[in-house]
Amino acid sequence: MNPQLLFWIPALLRMIFILLGAGIFWWLFGPVWGLAVALASVITLLVIQLNYLHKLGDWLDNPHSSKLPDGWGSWTNIFSRLYRLRRDDERNQSELTEWLARFRQAMHLLPDGVVIMDDVLFLEWCNPVAEQHLGLTLDKDKGMRVTNLIRHPAFIDYIILGRYEQPLTLSLRDRKLICQIIPFENRRQILVTHDVTENQRIEEMRRDFIANASHELRTPLTVIVGFLEIASSEMDLDAATRSAHLKLMTEQGRRMQGLIEDMLTLSRLESLDYPLRPERVDIHALMEEVADEARALSNGRHTVTVSVDGPDVTGSAEELRSAFGNLASNAVRYTPAGGMIDLCWQDGPDGPRFTAADTGIGIDQVHIARLTERFYRVDKSRSRETQGTGLGLAIVKHVLLRHGGALTIKSEAGKGSKFIVTLPAAAVA
Ligand code: ADP
Repeated sequence: MNPQLLFWIPALLRMIFILLGAGIFWWLFGPVWGLAVALASVITLLVIQLNYLHKLGDWLDNPHSSKLPDGWGSWTNIFSRLYRLRRDDERNQSELTEWLARFRQAMHLLPDGVVIMDDVLFLEWCNPVAEQHLGLTLDKDKGMRVTNLIRHPAFIDYIILGRYEQPLTLSLRDRKLICQIIPFENRRQILVTHDVTENQRIEEMRRDFIANASHELRTPLTVIVGFLEIASSEMDLDAATRSAHLKLMTEQGRRMQGLIEDMLTLSRLESLDYPLRPERVDIHALMEEVADEARALSNGRHTVTVSVDGPDVTGSAEELRSAFGNLASNAVRYTPAGGMIDLCWQDGPDGPRFTAADTGIGIDQVHIARLTERFYRVDKSRSRETQGTGLGLAIVKHVLLRHGGALTIKSEAGKGSKFIVTLPAAAVA
């Protein structure tokens, strides 16, 4: 029924009832009694209404802790509508709280930093990633001007100039951040920060790799092209010079071949499409092969010894042969004639390990941490003289990454080196 009618019908009935009672008293006892009954009834009604008004006032003062009073007459309707309003309000509030909790959780999980600022750039809220990126502490910095908290000239210019179409790349606290401001809701702004330190590092590595590889390939190519030009010129060359040129061209060709093979090996080792295919590796056979290669490379200039006192392992025989072979070949190449090279396989407390020890030129401590970087060499000319590509230890590192192993380098300039490969105990076959 129409709420207006619900209100007015009982009020009208009450008035008729009072008038009727007053009329009866008037008729029975005279007009004074009639008027007295009417007045008493009106006063009673007024007191009842005032009482309910008072209860409503009390409830409005503290709507959540006190109970809504039970009503009478049209108050029943008012109170039940108020009750419904309060219930809807509570439901909306709990939905809002839930949404807020979910929003906060999502913001906590975001890999990017989010900062919300008001129209005058005062910090309103930020997520933990933004705290890390920008060095903020929400509890402490809330309500402070963001330009006072992030005092980087480029950042301040970016905010002041307001050219937000382009993101800003910022170097802040050893990180490279991409910052983007997004205005929203009546001059409020969101600042989003994205950490690109790792991407930039990879990009730099890629650039360095391409530059180094091109440089490494260009040198032998220049030699070969030079000799080819001489050969195709009118110049008359005697047989000895011609054969010396051919020998040098073959050497440079082999160098390029070795370099390309190593680059392909590295790219295969890094590729996700080339998963490790574990098999049982016959360590005795593998160590003999590695030692034979080392002896062939040494060509009798060194004493190469081999000892095997450890279990077979599970892994890629081809990759382990390549890693151990690179270490053995380095031992030969960086040890002057007459030196000793010891190749050893043994079981250890942390797992089985391969050691390539030599009595060669050794390595100064400053270089040790960087040796496994691609194309890093202590002595470039010596590496080239001995057909080094600068990729051997990078290959070893990647093979060990795939096998869960580790490389330890112990060396001292002039006193020889020890390269120790430790495989995990779980690799024992
Ligand atoms: P390269 O092809 O130049 O030998 P590697 O990646 O195998 O490249 O080795 C990197 C550098 O580490 C070498 O250029 C060399 O300076 C140094 N190095 C590696 N092994 C030895 C070793 N056994 N003795 C001394 N220096 C070594």
